[in-house]
Order: sequence, then structure tokens, then C-alpha cells
Amino acid sequence: SLPLGELDPDVAAAVAAELHRQQSTLEMIASENFAPAAVMEAQGSVLTNKYAEGYPGRRYYGGCEHVDVVEQLAIARVKELFGAEAANVQPHSGAQANAAAMFALLRPGDTILGLDLAHGGHLTHGMRVNFSGKLYNVLPYHVRESDMRIDMDEVEQLALAHRPKMIVAGWSAYPRRLDFAAFRRIADAVGAYLMVDMAHFAGLVAAGLHPSPVPYADVVTTTTHKTLGGPRGGVILSRADLAKKINSAVFPGQQGGPLEHVIAAKAVAFKVAAGEEFKERQQRTLYGARILAGRLLADDVAEAGITVLTGGTEVHLVLVDLRGSALDGQQAEDRLHRIGITVNRNAVPFDPRPPMVSSGLRIGTPALATRGFGDPEFREVADIIAEALKGERPDDELRGRVAKLASAFPLYPHLSHLNGD
Ligand code: PLP
Repeated sequence: SLPLGELDPDVAAAVAAELHRQQSTLEMIASENFAPAAVMEAQGSVLTNKYAEGYPGRRYYGGCEHVDVVEQLAIARVKELFGAEAANVQPHSGAQANAAAMFALLRPGDTILGLDLAHGGHLTHGMRVNFSGKLYNVLPYHVRESDMRIDMDEVEQLALAHRPKMIVAGWSAYPRRLDFAAFRRIADAVGAYLMVDMAHFAGLVAAGLHPSPVPYADVVTTTTHKTLGGPRGGVILSRADLAKKINSAVFPGQQGGPLEHVIAAKAVAFKVAAGEEFKERQQRTLYGARILAGRLLADDVAEAGITVLTGGTEVHLVLVDLRGSALDGQQAEDRLHRIGITVNRNAVPFDPRPPMVSSGLRIGTPALATRGFGDPEFREVADIIAEALKGERPDDELRGRVAKLASAFPLYPHLSHLNGD
């Protein structure tokens, strides 16, 4: 019963340092967010001790009466939140959710279409060394070089020529909405399943600020920790007639005991996501991304050879195009890191630089919106980023402006005793 700081000072020190990092810098990695204290409380609860293989009411272990309540709450809430017929809340992560959904509906060797990784797709949508690329016959589709938008003509041509068993729509780095109706039409034309991976934009969908894929897709997968703002984890939503196949693909197909402590945290996050405050936060997230895109499209930034892919954004992130700049993605990421802004470099489609360096940055607003940022703060942070990328202002000055914003919006103040603040 020793507290962490006494039992394991080494781990405690690293956790405290990470807390300090999160509190004192500006988090703009598009796939990250800050889980509410109540979500972390559920995740750190005694539910971590419980084995519960199976599903509520049909477990392979005794003593599941309380975790059954929790898992049923999570299922009911997420179905309601997204208007889905069926939900599986057990996938340990987004990658596990995708693996299980594919395992349920495909056989090894089946053909699938997915957005190319280098054009914004995710590893699990068919990357060569990922399970998806090894188990299935993957035909990647792309964005057009002319406008950097997904080429639906290519999707249709690939589908008609190769008759895939599944079309995967979804992205990790793409700043525009997808045309779910067009994907559905193409899937129907060739008898394919349509799977939408809404991991990135699920929070926007929950808030009603982005079209929902649920009415169009046979199966919708998501993570719970990105715009949705919950614990790290995955969820699979589906039509009712696919639920049995999906449940058995998750357990016993892919996983053993579910993480009921994480499922409890997911349930809390779904409750939060159904509220008005969450909707208002997603609205600030979207406005913030638009403000950032607007600033990075201004003339002074364009003069440095820097622009924004697709000329703007409709979601929570902006993709910065550095192909025309002397600054590469690695250098840009490092420069922002030096002044206290965390982002990730990202290859842009048709990138002339190698992936480890790349010519892009992916910058997202969800975490800062959760922290409380509104239009004025996003305008200030957008200007700081523009100045940093132009490279004409001293780091010290920009670091000072970042520190001022961070201290004006305290994060997890109830935990500050842990890092000695
Ligand atoms: N799907 C998409 C579109 C993603 O962007 C990601 C993660 O970045 C995942 C799935 C995988 O989620 P996880 O990292 O939880 O496995």
C-alpha cells in the first residue's frame, strides 16, 4: 500500500516530469487530447484487477456483476452517442479495433482498398509491414496532386477493376471531410463492405459538427482518445446483423480479457461527449484549426515557401506543406519543440524528402481546446507558429509567449503536488 513515490521513485519521477511537460508546453499533436480527471480516476480504479473474458451476462469468469454494469453503460452510451445499432467497446486500441473488424468480415488474401499511408491513411489501412498489408491484398488509393483531395474516380476505378471485399475510408492526416455517400455508392456497386475509421474525427461527429459515417458504413471503428477525449482505446460500431461476427472477432478472435478499467473510463468519456460543454469545445477546436490555417496562408508565410495543404481545413487539424521551403519537417518540428509547442512532422503526398525528414507538419487543436483555448488564444498561438516557421524572431521571445499562454490555462491543477509545483 505504499504510494508510487515511495515504492518506485524512478517511475514516479518520470510521471511527474511528464505532468510538468504537459502543463508547461502547448500540445498540438492532432491525435492527442487531455482526458478529464474523472476518466483517469475510472481508469486508475480497482477494475484493473478483474478478468471478464466474454460479454456482459455471458462471461467465462465469476464475480463480473459490477464490470457488467460498467460495460453495458459504455455500450448503451456509445450506441446512443453515434446512433449505432451495435457496439463493441473492448478493443484495446484503434489498431485492435481495425484488426478485429477486418478479421470479422474478411479472409486472409481478400482484396481491400485503403488510403495510402503516404497520402494520409493509417498503418492499419494496408501498410506493407502492418498486419493489414500482410494478411490482405491491399490496393491503395490516393489524393490528386492538383488539389490534394481524395481521388474518388480512382477509388471507383480500383473498385470496379478489382472488386474488393472491403473499402476502408478514414485517415490520420487529411484536413477535409470524406464523401461517405460516394464511398457507399462505390461499395454497393461491387458488393464490398464499407468500413469507416473515424478515429480522428469521432469527437466532431459526436458533437454534430461533422457528417456521421454511421448511416453509410457497415462498420465504423474509432479510437476513444483523440477528438473524443477519453482514455486510450478502441470501439467498433456496426449494423446489428454484423454484431455477432464482430464480437467473436474481438473475443476470442483477437483479444483475451477486456480492460474493464479502460471500458469504465470510456463510459465516462461517452457521458461527457453527450453534453453541451463537449459540443462547445469541439466548436472551439474547429474554429482554432481554421484560425491556424488562415494565419499560415498569409502572405508573410507564403514568402517563406510555406503553405497549407488543400488551402485550409474542415476538421481539427492543419497540414503544413514545406515542400517549397528550405525548412524540412524535422527542422520545423524541432524549432517548435524548442519554443514549447509539440507537433509531429508528417510526410505530405508526393513528398520529395525521405519519410524520416519529410516536408510536412500535422498540427491539431483538440488538446488546446480542451485546455480552454478560444479564438483569441488560437490567434496568438497561430501567430507564434507562423513566426517560428519564418524563423525571424528569437526563440526566447516566442518561448515567453508560449509560457504565458500555458500558465493562463492551468492543466490538471489538482495534480500539481506531484511535480513539486
Ligand atoms: N485509425 C486511425 C485513423 C488512426 O489515426 C490511429 C492512430 O493514430 C489508429 C487507427 C490507431 O489507434 P491506436 O494508436 O489506438 O492503435
